[in-house]
Amino acid sequence: MDPEHKSLARELSQDTLTTLCMDLGARPFQAKTLWRWLHVKGLRSFDQATDLPKKLRESLADHLELQSVQVVEESLSHDGTCKYLLELADGERIEMVLIPEGARNTLCVSTQVGCPVGCVFCASGLLGVRRNLDHHEILDQFLLAREILGEKELTNLVIMGMGEPMLNLDALLPALDRITDPEGFHFSPRRITVSASGYPDKIRRFSKAGKSYNLALSLHTADAEQRRLLIPTAQHDPRELVAAAKDHFQATGREPTIEIVLLRGRNDRIEDADKLVRLLKGLQCTVNLIPWNRVEGTPIALERPYEDRVEAFREALEQRGLNVTLRRKRGSEKNAACGQLRLRSLES
Ligand code: SAH
Ligand code: SF4
Repeated sequence: MDPEHKSLARELSQDTLTTLCMDLGARPFQAKTLWRWLHVKGLRSFDQATDLPKKLRESLADHLELQSVQVVEESLSHDGTCKYLLELADGERIEMVLIPEGARNTLCVSTQVGCPVGCVFCASGLLGVRRNLDHHEILDQFLLAREILGEKELTNLVIMGMGEPMLNLDALLPALDRITDPEGFHFSPRRITVSASGYPDKIRRFSKAGKSYNLALSLHTADAEQRRLLIPTAQHDPRELVAAAKDHFQATGREPTIEIVLLRGRNDRIEDADKLVRLLKGLQCTVNLIPWNRVEGTPIALERPYEDRVEAFREALEQRGLNVTLRRKRGSEKNAACGQLRLRSLES
């Protein structure tokens, strides 16, 4: 192993790790101890492994890299939400957000650098995609967040940061496998929610991954034409997406969430609510209304909806028997919406 090019420790098989430890003068049980540190406890610095000799820890640090993400900027909102700008080994930047709410601590992670989907209201979509994250870069956001939280428990994980999770399932599913591994980090799949902006076939692949993950479907509108305006790359009819959400419920027993980012005069009218009710008929779900967080430089003129319109929209859905949640202020300050911190850092 070339010390100039350190290997990522969690990438090594148990056999390779054992061979390396023996080469460095360790005993087999110490290799096992290291394995547990890496894959069960989430080691972030070799100094933490105090049950290994100091000399071995130093040699390991010379040969192995523990982290693929580094914090370069933090931005704390008054409600406690903390947004982190992270740098990857090749200098690319992504975002991660920690959201404390009472006893809950929710982590929001990214899956791509930028996003190829190009929703007109979203900062992540404005500059296109640079590359997919690999599964270590997704897993390492989870491990970093656990380290930041210290004694506090990470209770929920949402895959709603930068990027389109359905377009990087090859990295996301292995990362989630690691995170939920009963022999490893043992995080419950029921506390993980993956957000999809479309792609019914990929949603079905995700639903069949064999674990009861939650699905959030970013539907935004029941009207196909309106949806193409908001998501220019979206090729699928809203009915196909709702069918995929129904199949998710069938496959996992988990009720999907339907995400609607409300934009003034575009999808926030009562007739839009009526169409949505008709489309969602027969789907057990919760509708999450998200008044748009302003992003500068959108390709079409957009405004945040008026409060009374949001209320009327919510009532129209509730009166027809839908479960509705409303995400109010959270994240609306300090460039806190999806992708905005990275966008600002690229512009400055
Ligand atoms: N690409 C996935 C997941 C990341 S976006 C998806 O689109 O679902 C996570 C959620 O944030 C989506 O529901 C998205 O519509 C919403 N979002 C993006 N930009 C926003 C903004 N400026 N204001 C409010 N919600 C936004
Ligand atoms: Fe991509 Fe989601 Fe942003 Fe759309 S909302 S551009 S899919 S990250």
